[in-house]
Amino acid sequence: DIKNKVAIVTGSTRGIGKSIARKLGYEGALLVLNYRKRDDEANNALRELKSLGYEAIAVKADLSMEEDCRLLIDTTMDTFGKLDILVNNAGTGFYSPFKDINDKLIEKTLGTDFKSVLYCSLYASRAMERGVIINIASITGIIPYYGLSVYGSLKSAVINLTKSMALELAPSIRVNAIAPGLVNTNLGGSLLNVMGISWDTWINKYTLTKKATEPDEIAEAVIAEIKIDTMTGEVIKIDGGQALK
Ligand code: NAD
Repeated sequence: DIKNKVAIVTGSTRGIGKSIARKLGYEGALLVLNYRKRDDEANNALRELKSLGYEAIAVKADLSMEEDCRLLIDTTMDTFGKLDILVNNAGTGFYSPFKDINDKLIEKTLGTDFKSVLYCSLYASRAMERGVIINIASITGIIPYYGLSVYGSLKSAVINLTKSMALELAPSIRVNAIAPGLVNTNLGGSLLNVMGISWDTWINKYTLTKKATEPDEIAEAVIAEIKIDTMTGEVIKIDGGQALK
């Protein structure tokens, strides 16, 4: 039961994170939103969730930095006095052919797509009595995609970390992941842009379902992974069958 559970969703003022926050709010969770830069997006998201009757705060924190991960967990504990659910969703997705990779891209991706998950989970696991951690990985962490070697490698690391934490934090904390294929968000659109492919072409050529995955579909799976009491160390692919093509 998610009612009155305190839930942090990282990177949740737009895209997949915002859908996850909305569904958790619908289930009765007390929400902690997080974002890095865009105060306007945060204010809009807060207004939207509050207008639906959900309790929510927003914490500005750049989770590529350890101290900001700690700040996010500390602020949650100071505000609500407990933490039950952490959804590690914040992430980037820089495209670069392997030979063009540079240290800046590696460090940025390492911070945002891996260290954020590691440090938020670390501080959350120390604060949680019992709880669930959900990590938003990617299909690129399971099979390779051209131009996404750094991102994909770090999403593989997120999948390994999911299973490692499931092993070490049991029985009080369960840890699961989702591996989305391309999702209809800012990030999904900008990835297609650099690849020079339209949504229509991509959907027809690369999916079995002939349909773009929507953020709400990822959010549904997050809710399921939270609710199923014996699910831990699991990774659910939601990719329109993209991995089979
Ligand atoms: P998005 O760009 O629409 O939203 C990303 C959110 O993360 C934003 O709110 C942003 O402020 C936040 N964020 C980014 N860096 C941050 C940082 N350092 N600290 C705190 N917040 C930060 O992206 P999205 O498509 O909603 O992606 C969400 C997650 O899903 C990411 O982890 C991404 O890798 C993963 N994913 C996305 C797709 C896709 O096609 N869209 C596919 C597979 C996996």
